Amino acid sequence: MNPPNYRRALVIASYCGTALGCAGLAYLLQWPPALTGFLCATLAMLPPALRLSRERAEAGRRQEQTQSFVQRLLDVIPEPVYIKDEQGRYVFVNEAFAQRRHQDAQSIIGRTAAELAPDADTVKLVSDEDARVLAGASIFKEDRVRNPLTGTVNYRIVTKGSCLDAEGKRVIIGANFDITSMRTAEQQLQIALAHQTEVAENTRAFIQHILDVIPYPMYVKGANSVYLIVNKAFVRERGVPSQQILGLSSLDLAPETPQARRSIEEDQRVLAGHALQKEEGGQHPLTGELYFQLVIKGSCPDIDGKPVIVGVNIDITDLRTSEQKLQNALDRLSEHHQHTLDFVQRVLDLLPYPVYVKDAQSRYLMVNEAMARDHFMRRDQLINHMGITESASPETMRRLFEEDGEVLAGKQILREEHAQHQYTGRETFRILSKGTCANALGEPVIVGAIIDLTDLRLAERELKSTFEREVKLRERTQEFIQRLIDVIPDPVYVKKAGGLYLMVNTAFAEYHQMSKEALVGAESPLMLAGPKTRDISLQEDAAVLGGQDLTKEEHTTRKATGEEVFRIVSKRRSIYFDGVPVVIGIDRHITRWRVAERELQRLAQEDMLTGISNRRHFHTEATHAVARAKRYGEALTLLMLDIDHFKTINDTWGHQTGDEVLIETVQRIRASLRGTDIPARWGGEEFIVLLPHTAMREALFVAERLRSHLAELPVTTKTSPVPVTVSIGIAEWARNEPLDHLVSRADAALYRAKNEGRNRVIVAPE
Ligand code: GH3
Ligand code: MG
Ligand code: MG
Repeated sequence: MNPPNYRRALVIASYCGTALGCAGLAYLLQWPPALTGFLCATLAMLPPALRLSRERAEAGRRQEQTQSFVQRLLDVIPEPVYIKDEQGRYVFVNEAFAQRRHQDAQSIIGRTAAELAPDADTVKLVSDEDARVLAGASIFKEDRVRNPLTGTVNYRIVTKGSCLDAEGKRVIIGANFDITSMRTAEQQLQIALAHQTEVAENTRAFIQHILDVIPYPMYVKGANSVYLIVNKAFVRERGVPSQQILGLSSLDLAPETPQARRSIEEDQRVLAGHALQKEEGGQHPLTGELYFQLVIKGSCPDIDGKPVIVGVNIDITDLRTSEQKLQNALDRLSEHHQHTLDFVQRVLDLLPYPVYVKDAQSRYLMVNEAMARDHFMRRDQLINHMGITESASPETMRRLFEEDGEVLAGKQILREEHAQHQYTGRETFRILSKGTCANALGEPVIVGAIIDLTDLRLAERELKSTFEREVKLRERTQEFIQRLIDVIPDPVYVKKAGGLYLMVNTAFAEYHQMSKEALVGAESPLMLAGPKTRDISLQEDAAVLGGQDLTKEEHTTRKATGEEVFRIVSKRRSIYFDGVPVVIGIDRHITRWRVAERELQRLAQEDMLTGISNRRHFHTEATHAVARAKRYGEALTLLMLDIDHFKTINDTWGHQTGDEVLIETVQRIRASLRGTDIPARWGGEEFIVLLPHTAMREALFVAERLRSHLAELPVTTKTSPVPVTVSIGIAEWARNEPLDHLVSRADAALYRAKNEGRNRVIVAPE
């Protein structure tokens, strides 16, 4: 082959390459980027290469270089490229062509396709093609070739064209582009696509199943609002087969209805991203029943990534119906609850002290009228408020919250508060009681009551001070009484029933020789007394406590000292300070008076010198004796006795000795008499003796014995013995005789005894 032919071949090859590249690029955008890049690079290089060939065509010395360059250039193209002459002989092949044939390029050059082709069919096909190409057609086709050696199927693009070479001869330029990998990939893609389609179908079916299982009407609509999928429930609800729904929009199904228009508008909003959830209700168009449904619409991309509307209408008729029933029941309950609350409120209002119910935030839920009054507020001003005025300090509020918290935790508060009233400033005493319990709704609430004790406490305080005053007064009174009775010189006491001493005075203590403290209380001097004395005393006490006054005189001898005691015992009933009935006693000790009285009496009755009765006492006693003698018819005798010449005794031995003689004479008279006889000094040296139960004969004997007894022995005095004689007159009492008369008769007898010589006894005549 000469150089011009190569140049032409090169030009044709360039154009063919360009065409092939463009066709390949256009047809297979997914060719490996390396190949695409290579082809582009080739195309970019061809024009300068052509220019180079033209300019240097004439230059023979570079011919060889050009030829080898073109050869190398075409060799670089990885796909088989060839040039054939009009006889079908290969005039040029690149390396890729040779490699594909597993032959050396030189062994191919000059041979025809017929010689190289594997079978007759191929030979005929190639010949026909070549003929058509030479006639001006161009071939661009895809071949499917099975490699006889490897058995693998290859795909290639066969392109053929013809042009004139540099020498004006027509040549065929061909190239075979292996697109096996592309086709294989395409096939795999097809398989994958088919698989995906199947999966998508399955998915659709699966979704349909799922949707059908859902008991609520559900649908999927396309962006144009036409139904794409509907479930069985939807079909049932519409009452028409799914074929009459799918592919249609709401407007198609129900043209010119506001519902349909609204549905379409909703669809647009949903597609714009505003998911819809609304409740619809009304009369069902088919069944006429009342229904409620929850309409939910949203949008999402479908399997293909296209936006669709997914909707579901959930029937909530039952829910709404039972909700309604529940609401009715709740209304009734709430009505009942309200009645209960009203009742509780009325009960609370009846309570006279403030009562409240607070919630966990210390807000009043319920207060009674007393509470409102106490706070000087209306009830509605307290409810839902904390009731703390602005004047309350943060400290007070904190304490209140703390306390309420403790109460809610279960602590029971019960304390008394002494403070100034928050509003009135009045001193108040209040019992604050707080506890917690659950209200009708089961929420914990604080229940509190405020019980005003002010009046009570103030009264108590008043009472206390009164009591203290009373106690003081009582103490003072007791002290006063004690001092008062202590002044009384006689024993004074206050005794309870049973003999217990409550109060004694100094005289009483002194008399019992015990301290007052020892006496007052359990100890009692009565215990020291004999059982008899004690019994008598207790009996008396009982009688006195029973209302009988007692006054008696006691004449006793004290065991301890043996001294004689006269007392006037007085007992009176009284009431002690503590209201207990008591015995007030005074033992007036009258021993001194009684003794003095007795002495006085003795003095009044006795003769001072001789100690025998005086004339007055004799008169008293003699009168009694006469009366008794008269009553019993007894005898009675009277002696009248006079010392003889007593004047002489006085004159002789002195008056003192005379007194001694008088005393001794009396002694001797008494010694001669009986105990029942009544001697007395009648006056001077004259004596009288009354002898009861004694008649004259016996009396005469007594008188004689007296006379002789005196006369026998002189009276011993300090100076000297003095002889004494007496003259005696005797008179026996005559029945009914007055005493005076008797005395006169005895005196008359005495007078005769004197006259008849003295020292003798003379009996008075009857
Ligand atoms: P006659 O035998 O007649 O009784 O003589 P008389 O002296 O005893 O009687 P008279 O009446 O003349 O005197 C009594 C005296 O006794 C006079 C008087 O002084 C004295 N006399 C009277 N009472 C007492 C007295 O108590 N003591 C003394 N020493 N003398 C007394
Ligand atoms: Mg005389
Ligand atoms: Mg005488």
